[in-house]
Amino acid sequence: MNILGFESSCDETGVAVVAFEGQEAPRLLGQALHSQVQMHEAYGGVVPELASRDHVRRALPLAEAALAEAGLGVHDIDLVAFTRGPGLAGALLVGAGVACGLAAALCRPTLGVHHLEGHLLSPFLSADPPEFPFVALLVSGGHTQLMRVDGVGHYELLGETIDDAAGEAFDKSAKLLGLGYPGGPALARLATQGNGLAFELPRPLLHQPNLDFSFAGLKTAVMTTLNRLGPDVNDAQRADLAASTQAAIVEVLVRKSMRAIRQTGLRRLVVAGGVGANAALRHELGQACTRMGVKVHYPELHLCTDNGAMIAMAAAMRCQAGLAVLSNEHRFGVKPRWDLAEAGVA
Ligand code: ATP
Ligand code: MG
Ligand code: FE
Repeated sequence: MNILGFESSCDETGVAVVAFEGQEAPRLLGQALHSQVQMHEAYGGVVPELASRDHVRRALPLAEAALAEAGLGVHDIDLVAFTRGPGLAGALLVGAGVACGLAAALCRPTLGVHHLEGHLLSPFLSADPPEFPFVALLVSGGHTQLMRVDGVGHYELLGETIDDAAGEAFDKSAKLLGLGYPGGPALARLATQGNGLAFELPRPLLHQPNLDFSFAGLKTAVMTTLNRLGPDVNDAQRADLAASTQAAIVEVLVRKSMRAIRQTGLRRLVVAGGVGANAALRHELGQACTRMGVKVHYPELHLCTDNGAMIAMAAAMRCQAGLAVLSNEHRFGVKPRWDLAEAGVA
């Protein structure tokens, strides 16, 4: 079975081909990705209308590139998958429209995929895939959640952020430090030159017994610190502040993940979403997991942020689990707001 997957929930257009036979592990045959980051940079954030228009321009050429890499023609595709939500409504509609139009022309079914299920299952495309059950730490630009995952479609929310997501905390702090958009990777780079103990920044909810997060106070603390340092702030201080911000985010993520491991008694942790690419987080989680005898799994670095491969993969795993509700109608709707728990065993 060959699946063509489209991702267009935000500012990346991604298309990929994933194939599987029976219950064998699905394989990524080809993929193509275009990031709109440069286009949105001038505005300091994603401009939804520009995002939609760019998805229109990119989707089909990227599909051709992904198919070419896979060595397949469009008629070899058996199922067309797309991100149904959550995300920007206009951007989602473009991906859904292209996917359903293509499927209609080919007389093939479609499957709408939950974007976070894509992130969550992306580590199954790595050389060392996890086994169920596991605790998942989902850390992206829009979400920060801890989940218990017992199988495809079996997702139990254990805790989540009550305000900003971890990626948002990286991006907003980076903006205050003058690092552009999206600032997560830039802040991480600057942090390598600084001392994470230099500034004492808040670790909200760290000592609460629950598995919830709060990152909104962090950007305020970064702003207050920058105001205190004044206009003469030097490069070393900025690097120290970047390192201290990263240390605060990473410590909370690691401590809460380990708490989830203790509470569930599970011995596997899966990290997914853009912030999963962060080297400091990977280092600290690695150490904590080794101490607790826990195996930790990540997507490959290039599959941490949004991509088409994770959408095609989630579709493949849903098919294999007998949970794919395929549509031959080619009418489509999107869900800009959509809880993953609701998208479970539907
Ligand atoms: P969601 O998946 O919740 O809808 P999203 O799709 O925008 O949100 P992702 O593409 O998964 O999020 O991740 C993007 C986020 O990851 C951004 O906030 C970005 O700054 C952050 N990020 C990417 N790489 C790194 C890194 N190395 N260190 C820290 N943050 C990073
Ligand atoms: Mg993005
Ligand atoms: Fe995402």
